[in-house]
Amino acid sequence: MRKISILGATGSIGASTLDLIRRAPLDWKVVALTANGNVTELAKLAREFGAEIAVTADAACLHDLREALAGSGIEAAGGPAALVEAASRQVDITIAAIVGCAGLAPTMAAIEQGGTIGLANKEALVSAGDVMTSAVARHGATLLPVDSEHNAIFQCLAGNDPAHVRSITLTASGGPFRDWSLEQLVGATPAQAVRHPNWDMGAKISVDSATMFNKGLELIEAHHLFPVGLDKLRIIVHPQSVVHSMVEYRDGSTLAQLGPSDMRVPIASVLAWPQRIETPLAPLDLAAIGELSFRAPDETRFPATRLARQAAEAGGAIPAVLNAANEIAVAAFLAGQIGFTRIAAHVEDVLSCYAPPAPACLADVIAVDAEARDRARDLINSAPMEPA
Ligand code: NAD
Ligand code: MG
Repeated sequence: MRKISILGATGSIGASTLDLIRRAPLDWKVVALTANGNVTELAKLAREFGAEIAVTADAACLHDLREALAGSGIEAAGGPAALVEAASRQVDITIAAIVGCAGLAPTMAAIEQGGTIGLANKEALVSAGDVMTSAVARHGATLLPVDSEHNAIFQCLAGNDPAHVRSITLTASGGPFRDWSLEQLVGATPAQAVRHPNWDMGAKISVDSATMFNKGLELIEAHHLFPVGLDKLRIIVHPQSVVHSMVEYRDGSTLAQLGPSDMRVPIASVLAWPQRIETPLAPLDLAAIGELSFRAPDETRFPATRLARQAAEAGGAIPAVLNAANEIAVAAFLAGQIGFTRIAAHVEDVLSCYAPPAPACLADVIAVDAEARDRARDLINSAPMEPA
């Protein structure tokens, strides 16, 4: 039996992970399950999987969580410190699936235990960058990418010398607005943005996919996971989401990983690595799919990838500022406070007015993130319904 904790158990990645565990219950002992405010679902999962502890990040929800777990013998805890404590419990693998920089401190706590981390929470790595990768090295932890593109790249790099990589290409579906004109994008609504054509995901990453900030964050994520040099990292739009990413070697060979667009595939690869386990998905039917197409990204309609590349080039604290500004802008867009095209414009505005020095430790990253959020909120509040 292997011990597992899932940070963000009630989300889309959490549900996909638990679905795989449900199919092989004898292989796993669930230690910690965490969530934000959805304590009814959290308690239900904790009971089903016999978790040792269930944690709500929102201390105000602890009372309800305790009631929902009454008589189960499962520990209940609440608040940010409890989240970090639960993430510090010894396990074989932690799935880091909280959305946003809120997942940074617990993910770092798991890294400090020196185990294996299946990283879905890309915002944490984007924000912390070298602070996280150096902690991974210092504590002898293993970071396995859950993000489908990075999981694909990880698989394509296996057994090869990274020094022989000519380029790494991240594929992007292009999101629901792939073929929309700039004029149409100005009027895009939250309901339209969260309706992704290929993937079923949480609201924040769905909006990121629509703006292409998801691919921008993934570019920075790849830069830290696969340090081959930013100039070797490319992005290509691939509407079918069948090729999850590719690695080209100096001899002209390109290796790609293909699979159904279901996160249980990369999660299964992380749970079993370096072995393979069964997933309940239908085999890939390329004849039925018929065609795979590719096109260059359009940074005029979708400036996010340009902003992310610039932030990665600047390094230090700048990716954390980009991420924080984007998180605030996405929340404002979902709340109907700003228009769709204002998201990238807003991130660019925040980047142009806040360039703190490089963080040296987790506390520095958290401080940069907090300050960037404050500035991002102030900018939005000073021009609430500003047109694009
Ligand atoms: P989601 O919104 O469905 O779930 C997020 C989880 O985090 C929930 O359990 C929620 O309770 C918890 N959470 C939210 N705010 C929190 C806070 N402030 N403190 C503590 N916990 C909090 O999100 P998701 O789609 O599962 O995505 C999770 C992460 O995985 C994101 O970083 C996303 O970019 C990444 N990811 C998701 C997918 C996907 O297909 N969904 C694919 C690749 C990467
Ligand atoms: Mg991805």
